[in-house]
Amino acid sequence: MDQPKAPSRLHLWRFVRGDEPSPAFEQWAYQDPTLQTQLGADLHLALISTDFYDAEAVWSLRERLGSYLRSLPGPRCRCVRLRDRDIVDMGSFNAPAPVFEQDREWSHEDVMDTLAEVRRRGEPRWWLWAARCTACDQAWLVGSEERQNDLYCLRRLDEKELRAIEDEDRWPQDFDSYERLLHLGREAGRRVRFADPLDSSLDCTMADLARARPGIKVGELASLLNLDIDLAAELARRAERQGGVTISFDEQSSG
Ligand SMILES: [Zn+2]
Repeated sequence: MDQPKAPSRLHLWRFVRGDEPSPAFEQWAYQDPTLQTQLGADLHLALISTDFYDAEAVWSLRERLGSYLRSLPGPRCRCVRLRDRDIVDMGSFNAPAPVFEQDREWSHEDVMDTLAEVRRRGEPRWWLWAARCTACDQAWLVGSEERQNDLYCLRRLDEKELRAIEDEDRWPQDFDSYERLLHLGREAGRRVRFADPLDSSLDCTMADLARARPGIKVGELASLLNLDIDLAAELARRAERQGGVTISFDEQSSG
């Protein structure tokens, strides 16, 4: 009954998600004697005859394997379908989905409802926590980015990493800085703009970012927080005044 966690199925998922590069996957696939029985003759033939140097062929194999894997019974959670590092928007999940995940229009509840908090990192890193899925046992590092883009940054944890967190309070550093969460949101194309930036929490966010990295440039703040440079400068001056932090204005052209 533990089929969904069968090692080869997890391996196939890693490839489908794009978490495993083709050469490593190809090598593994040729060496696993159980694969033909699992996949059936057609799909197995498609796999072993794929030219793994041909991006299009690899993509179409991922599609086929993806629809096969999704058709199998499994836990009700979404863990296995999330990449090792992934982003889940608060509200509807409208991330540009890879082709093999056409129906990836989940709400964050679909993903987060089975993630039970195991431990919080605590101040000053209030955004960071570790979770375990109640449906499949997968552990996750979670960064809640609620100030700018409203999203969760997720990073798959192995059992050793979760134990280090639980037993020794030793955490992977992936989401240690809030700035990193903002970067990840930006890299994923999230560009939230506040309706009234001058009457928002933006100056507090700036102050926190500058406290974590004194001398951060106003241009960097503008980019992270999706602001025009002049507006960013105005907010940055306010953050300096009220937060007692240092922001660098060197590269600013006007203001
Ligand atoms: Zn799960």
